[in-house]
Amino acid sequence: MITVRAPAKINLQLSVGPRRADGYHELVSVFHAVDLCDEVTVTEGVGGVELVMSGEGAAELPVDDTNLAVRAAHLLADHHGIEPSVLIQIVKAIPVAAGMAGGSADAAAVLVACDALWQTRTDRETLVRLAAQLGSDVPFALQGGTAIGTGRGEQLSPVLANGALHWVFAIADQGLSTPTVYAQFDLLNSEPSAPEVSIALLQALRSGAADAVGAHLHNDLQAAAIKLRPGLGQLLNAGTDFGALGAVVCGSGPTCAFLARDAETSIDLAVALTSTGLCRTVKRASGPAPGVR
Ligand code: C5P
Repeated sequence: MITVRAPAKINLQLSVGPRRADGYHELVSVFHAVDLCDEVTVTEGVGGVELVMSGEGAAELPVDDTNLAVRAAHLLADHHGIEPSVLIQIVKAIPVAAGMAGGSADAAAVLVACDALWQTRTDRETLVRLAAQLGSDVPFALQGGTAIGTGRGEQLSPVLANGALHWVFAIADQGLSTPTVYAQFDLLNSEPSAPEVSIALLQALRSGAADAVGAHLHNDLQAAAIKLRPGLGQLLNAGTDFGALGAVVCGSGPTCAFLARDAETSIDLAVALTSTGLCRTVKRASGPAPGVR
């Protein structure tokens, strides 16, 4: 039996360029893994790939071949020319369809866990390539930490970041579909410029000054997510009023991330956000967290 922990991510910066011929958008993302983790356990199966899910939002998710975790097991088995045989059990803590790449984290975890279970000894480069085939955010879940993602988000280079960042996440009642948010982005931005990494954000991360990081959080999908869920704008403002150093929509939303000065203030911020009634629940987590292990 092998158990793997898979971290959620947020985008400290998400700059979106024009839609490419393959339908994806050219991105510059500064990914940041946080210690809000799904737990993925694999055991020898009785032939085929079986998936059982429990925890946060699990009831909403399919457990058939459309689930990215199941696809990850098949992809690895196909790559090695073996018949897959595995029971995958996922305990979810990462909210579903929330912009925190929970499905991608599970897929990355299945690649690593099945590779160990089947003793297929896949080299790192191949694992990353298989991860990119599964989704744009899957390679980052393998890597963790803080990293710049370019291309459609799958080409990674690590970022030097000092100190821990303490986050509060406000989680909505209902998820948002990533393609819908990107389509809304296209409607709002007829000619987006080529995305560039924010030097100010990289300097802030290197210095370890949380207030500077908070000031440079940026997400080009935020306006699209707010257009689809107007309440998010109010929620972001409430967090700032309660003293958050920065507030930003996570990925394609609808989760909102608030940066606190330290672990202690994050508790106060979490209580204050809960009391607004503008979100279903709040969670606290810190980053950077390691990738799947
Ligand atoms: O790569 P992944 O399957 O996770 O992407 C989900 C959807 O998000 C894509 O089908 C596309 O609509 C959108 N997307 C995009 N540009 C990116 C990444 C994702 O348009 N760089």
